[in-house]
Amino acid sequence: MASSDASLIDGREIAQSVRDEVSQAIDAWTTDRRPPFLTAVLVGDNPASKAYVRGKEKDAAEVGIETETLQFDADLPEEKLLGTVRDLNDDPSVDGILVQLPLPDHIDDRGVIDTIDPAKDVDGFHPENLGRVMRGTPSFIPATPYGIVEMLDRCDIDPEGMDAVIVGRSNIVGKPLANLLMQRDQNATVTVCHSRTEDLAAHTRRADLLVAALGQANFIGADMVSKATVVIDVGINRVEDDSTDRGYRLEGDVDFDAVRSKASWITPVPGGVGLMTRAMLLKNTMTAARLQASA
Ligand code: NDP
Repeated sequence: MASSDASLIDGREIAQSVRDEVSQAIDAWTTDRRPPFLTAVLVGDNPASKAYVRGKEKDAAEVGIETETLQFDADLPEEKLLGTVRDLNDDPSVDGILVQLPLPDHIDDRGVIDTIDPAKDVDGFHPENLGRVMRGTPSFIPATPYGIVEMLDRCDIDPEGMDAVIVGRSNIVGKPLANLLMQRDQNATVTVCHSRTEDLAAHTRRADLLVAALGQANFIGADMVSKATVVIDVGINRVEDDSTDRGYRLEGDVDFDAVRSKASWITPVPGGVGLMTRAMLLKNTMTAARLQASA
């Protein structure tokens, strides 16, 4: 049955309210303590990574978090990077450490993540933090899945009893999100799909909650959604577009215009999950400051 257009899950508005709350928490925190301090580590000159780090610095400044960015050339030896991370671990004036991914090919991402002090791991990618998410006792939740759960909550969308289908099984989105949605405070029944899933559309069509995190522009079309589904689009894909100054535009993994008429709720790209990811990083940095102060 055709339905009217889905309600928009407005990432701009929700992220702003999260930032306002973090800002208030920091105002209270800094009455008798220094502001939270976040160090970003950027290796190489990947334009997207640089833009992400600039965005994070700007957000942090807005809420009262102090930042520094350590920028290194792309040929930085792995051992030097590990040494930098260890120094930051030992520095009591640094609350949070963020190593911008992806790293150049000669550096093993995992080794670097494993070296970050779990108490300063604001991205929540350290195995200890991922394990805590799995156990249901998180310190830091990876910002994208954290942002998705927060968005749902703030739109009064309760995943309890829903068939949640996640397309994408990465360590930073799909896997931690599956863990969060199956916890006792969410109570969704979760299916995680990936590139080897057979008949993907059969899974997506029965979803009450569909999360697209596969990294292919407009992949989820109207034929893959069969009912009043809540559709969360994580994808951020650069699509060539000569009509823009930058020469590209951003598209999600969901064909927004087509799916919108079927879904009950939908997130736009841009203006959806990406903004929540940035906002939740600020929350994690506040958590890091609290952990550091109580250490
Ligand atoms: P990865 O490339 O790490 O993972 C992609 C996943 O999608 C893999 O599990 C892969 O399967 C699966 N996949 C790829 N193609 C298909 C297909 N045709 N059918 C089914 N599954 C498929 O990506 P990320 O998780 O890092 O990112 C996913 C998207 O989300 C990207 O567009 C990225 O830019 C965006 N992103 C957005 C963020 C935000 O804040 N909005 C934050 C992080 C990412 P397999 O495992 O079998 O290879």
